[in-house]
Amino acid sequence: MSAKIKVATTSLAGCFGCHMSLLDIDERILALVELVEFDRSPLTDIKQIGACDLGLIEGGVANAENVEVLRDFRRHCKILVAVGACAISGGIPAMRNSFALADCLTESYVTGIGIHNPGVPNDPEIPLLLNQVHPIHEVVKVDYFLPGCPPSGDAIWTFLTELLAGQPISLPYTQLHYD
Ligand code: SF4
Repeated sequence: MSAKIKVATTSLAGCFGCHMSLLDIDERILALVELVEFDRSPLTDIKQIGACDLGLIEGGVANAENVEVLRDFRRHCKILVAVGACAISGGIPAMRNSFALADCLTESYVTGIGIHNPGVPNDPEIPLLLNQVHPIHEVVKVDYFLPGCPPSGDAIWTFLTELLAGQPISLPYTQLHYD
């Protein structure tokens, strides 16, 4: 029996909705785990990525830790996939790109409505925010883009099964939507 394909997944500046959508393949996950073995992923809680065939990235790049994790995935994964609108274009977190970072922090932690004990967090454990939120292809080379917010479970299934079978990806138009 041939070795299983090793897959890693992570969420950068995302909402985990794309990971929820992966679970929306429902019972097909039983067929998937016959083909693949999950490495670092919220699904396994493995924290360090090993050598992988496929990396699925949810979320854009908003802070220094996101850059580090993304580069680590690129180093370890033969194929890297931007999954969902945030990874592809920055998505909702990138709405802050219209404003200066200092103004975002002041609004969020000092002057915004309903704030008690105002003050911008300054703990060295907290990753430093970048001035802008970036799509992942601005930081590393990306091999595939799987659109949607999130991509549906059916779209993820189509993508994975065709990719793993070595076929061209042929997402039907009905599987491309953003709700
Ligand atoms: S693309 Fe949509 S579902 Fe996926 S992480 Fe971004 S906001 Fe969440």
